[in-house]
Amino acid sequence: MPVDPFVLPDEVAALPARLGIEGFFDVHTHFMAPPVMAKVRQYFDDAGPLLGRPWPLTYRGDETELVSQLGALGVRRFSALSYAHKPGMAEFLNDWADAFADRVPAVLRCGTFFPEPEATAYVGKRLAGGVELFKVHVQVGAFWVTDPLLDESWGQIAEAGVPVVLHAGSGPVPNEFTGPAPVAELLRRHPGLRLLFAHAGAPEYEEFLGLAERYPGVGLDTTMVFTSFFDEMDSPFPDRLLGRLAALGDKVFLGSDFPNIPYPWWHQVEVLVALREREPLLDDAWLAGVLWHNAERLFESRSAGSAP
Ligand SMILES: [Zn+2]
Repeated sequence: MPVDPFVLPDEVAALPARLGIEGFFDVHTHFMAPPVMAKVRQYFDDAGPLLGRPWPLTYRGDETELVSQLGALGVRRFSALSYAHKPGMAEFLNDWADAFADRVPAVLRCGTFFPEPEATAYVGKRLAGGVELFKVHVQVGAFWVTDPLLDESWGQIAEAGVPVVLHAGSGPVPNEFTGPAPVAELLRRHPGLRLLFAHAGAPEYEEFLGLAERYPGVGLDTTMVFTSFFDEMDSPFPDRLLGRLAALGDKVFLGSDFPNIPYPWWHQVEVLVALREREPLLDDAWLAGVLWHNAERLFESRSAGSAP
């Protein structure tokens, strides 16, 4: 069968009708200001030290092309995650993401923050401006989530109930700041946070799953997990945890890492569909939640509750 990264295979194309969902809701996609995107692409092309492997990107279009490619793949809502790796950068990224959300109705209004003295003020400003989703990347940012400079921001975000995609697992390459322990401490301080663990917390699946089970607002995104690329290179998601993944129910969200992936976007969906062969509880109802309903509920209830 020919593989076209821009066209859904029939089985995936048939899913929305079969599951009774409007389309796909991808909570973990990356759109960022063109100069930043160019640097990110260069990094993947060079297979940077945080990657630890070759990473040939499948999608290289400009913003307009990428948006229409997602639309053609049936993705009705998506995010625009960016993340800062140094001080003084987050608000540049946030301004761009804000304008992008104004231009593209399907996109969630996204933001990021970094441990710096200005964080409390600009996080407050973004919350007042209707930010719908934050992204924090502990591995790239190289900071403690428990940094005192972030304490007020976490408090504000918890109070507002705005979700945060948090890349805190030690994949693809660990550093001293990654892993579940600092996140467990963060949740002890702010138990109301709505954290979505990127890549299901890989490779510390069990510990991050445990946090998601324990805290009502905490869940996982599927980004790259179960794909053949990920399974070959990293410690795959263990079969013995699949029942617990099913039990997490409405706290599991489709994420893909589009466009920075070395395989077609739809491969992520395909591998989620195939999970039922390993665990029957990962059935159509679970899938409909992951691919659409869970995120729709999370973000629609927020925008309904916070409409001006
Ligand atoms: Zn990502």
